[in-house]
Amino acid sequence: MNTPLWQLKKQMSEIGHRIWLKGFCAGNEGNHSVRISEDRVLCTPTGLSKGFLDPEEMCIVDMDGTQVEPNSMGRKRTSEVLVHLAIYKKRSDVNAVIHSHPPHATAFAIARIPLPEGVHPEAEVFLGKVKTAPYATPSKPELSESIMPLIGPETNTVLMGNHGSVSFSTDLTDTFYKLEILDAYCRLLILTRQVGAVNILNQSQMTELLEVKKSFGLPDERLACAADGCIGSENQPFLATFGVTPATATCDCDGGDVKRPGGPEFEAMVQTITNQILASQK
Ligand SMILES: [Zn+2]
Repeated sequence: MNTPLWQLKKQMSEIGHRIWLKGFCAGNEGNHSVRISEDRVLCTPTGLSKGFLDPEEMCIVDMDGTQVEPNSMGRKRTSEVLVHLAIYKKRSDVNAVIHSHPPHATAFAIARIPLPEGVHPEAEVFLGKVKTAPYATPSKPELSESIMPLIGPETNTVLMGNHGSVSFSTDLTDTFYKLEILDAYCRLLILTRQVGAVNILNQSQMTELLEVKKSFGLPDERLACAADGCIGSENQPFLATFGVTPATATCDCDGGDVKRPGGPEFEAMVQTITNQILASQK
């Protein structure tokens, strides 16, 4: 929090541009903020694209959300700052919050499919368990109320039902990384769904991964029960969306001599089908 205010405003503007470039916020969607002192927060203005904000358009609010300094460009603070403030109040270690609508992650929040876990190392280490809040109307106090019970001491990302995501961390850049990793992970899940089956890391692989995570200074409460296979208890709704079960691959080739369908039985079947088609056209 020793960074000069002008620099934080500039960083807010630059992060907004990166969020916009990634396609995480269309139109005026999304908002982000940084804590600038114990009782002051710098946040984005309402009603503007986050892609092209002038640093001077950022607004300063107190911990109740009241805009405490007149904005030199006449901007008003985002209506969603109350969600940000609730997080700052709950977690003294959090200094930046980004609310966004990353499309791949939001698809899970709309489908109301819990984000699966135990799939991808990057997501496990940098996001950990990501829970989805029930739907709540934007700009209403219910939005904060829906999210807050899901935020534990290790949480850095929450999905908002039918809406989007909220990411938070020690600084704005790291918070942006959380958002970026979240959407990249969800994109992988959606791609995997198209390619084939999703393979879940086993108990020993997850235990080892969470031990590595711990060695990075990132504790994860799931380490205590990873060896018991507790991870992935909410994976079933996602796995159930796969229309096909993976087939065991069998190869018919005999040293390159691939056997193709043929023979008298095959010819007879083709003739039967042809006759049925011709009969149906009469
Ligand atoms: Zn939103």
